[in-house]
Amino acid sequence: MRVYLDNAATTKIAPEVLEAMLPFMREHYGNPSSIHAQGRRAKAAIERARKIVAQHLNASIGEIFFTSGGTESNNMAIKCAIRDLGVTRIISSPIEHHCILHTLEDLPQNIEVEMVKILEDGKVDYEDLENRLKSGTDKTLVSLMYANNEIGVLLDLKRVSDLCAEHSAYFHTDSVQTMGHFPMDVKSFPVHFMSGSAHKFHGPKGVGFIYINQDSQIKSFLQGGAQERNMRAGTENIYGIIGLAKAFEMAIEEMDQRRTHIQEIRSNLAKGLLENFENIRFNTDWEGESLYTVLNVSFPPSEHADLLLLNLDIAGISASGGSACSSGSEKGSHVIEALQGKTDRKNIRFSFSHYNTAEEIDFLLEALKKIVTPKNSEVTQ
Ligand code: PLP
Repeated sequence: MRVYLDNAATTKIAPEVLEAMLPFMREHYGNPSSIHAQGRRAKAAIERARKIVAQHLNASIGEIFFTSGGTESNNMAIKCAIRDLGVTRIISSPIEHHCILHTLEDLPQNIEVEMVKILEDGKVDYEDLENRLKSGTDKTLVSLMYANNEIGVLLDLKRVSDLCAEHSAYFHTDSVQTMGHFPMDVKSFPVHFMSGSAHKFHGPKGVGFIYINQDSQIKSFLQGGAQERNMRAGTENIYGIIGLAKAFEMAIEEMDQRRTHIQEIRSNLAKGLLENFENIRFNTDWEGESLYTVLNVSFPPSEHADLLLLNLDIAGISASGGSACSSGSEKGSHVIEALQGKTDRKNIRFSFSHYNTAEEIDFLLEALKKIVTPKNSEVTQ
């Protein structure tokens, strides 16, 4: 048996999504920029996909641009806001994804980068954010993720967007982990840039999108042809885009059922861990508000906990120690370190999809009993 509990790293492509993509690999291979019938057909398919994404975000079709994924969308938001909107200060946080943090490290020297204070549970200190926004006269971009991919802590989007509006700052949110998992309505909170990635909601890898509010006039991030209305050069990943739209549509339509199922599985795991093992802690607020696809568990230090991920893998379970970059390795997480400092506890992220079953959680708990010492056990392993 193989149990996949690393859905925050990537998800299985839905069979329906693959089916929708195949004709665009086999038959409809025209270049969307060609003016002949095959080209026009490809172009029309992309525009249908754009409409689907826009509708589900309550955005207009002119605000959605397809990209190669979350990394490109996030790079684009930050770099184009600096280049085209006169942004000279970025406020972000130390627990963002590496595609934000490494982008920030690499900015020109005249760009000021400030990190907002993060509380012990991973929540943004909103007062600190407000004080930073109040101070300074630089044109500011706030870049904060909607849900953290390692611990699942959520941002109060409305609060941050209101603060940004009050202080005339631009607001970018990395919404890669929430897209398709939470309803998103861009009319209900002012945001300038928002990113999505198909492989996080059972679509294909290497395709995503960026929402750019129509008032934020940026230019193309990649130079070349006139694709994506001059905003993203390069021949479109047409089957990727078709797959993204299909996967997004399904995720929105099935959101409530999927959510109920995943939340049940996650809470079964959390309760099973508390029942069976000593000194378990959670880095995810699984009983409160959080990204319901994630449960980050902190195991007490022990010689067996050290190689926990590896032993889980051998037992047939795929989980991770943090973000996808360290998935499958025993490397520490920059998120946990930012919140707790160096720790000798072992933090494992289990992340779920609607394809996971209650039996898989039982299988995981049984496997764990053989790896870490269970409660009331006489056996020294
Ligand atoms: N942002 C977050 C929060 C993520 O979890 C990921 C994926 O790991 C990304 C950005 C990068 O997305 P992609 O893999 O599509 O480049």
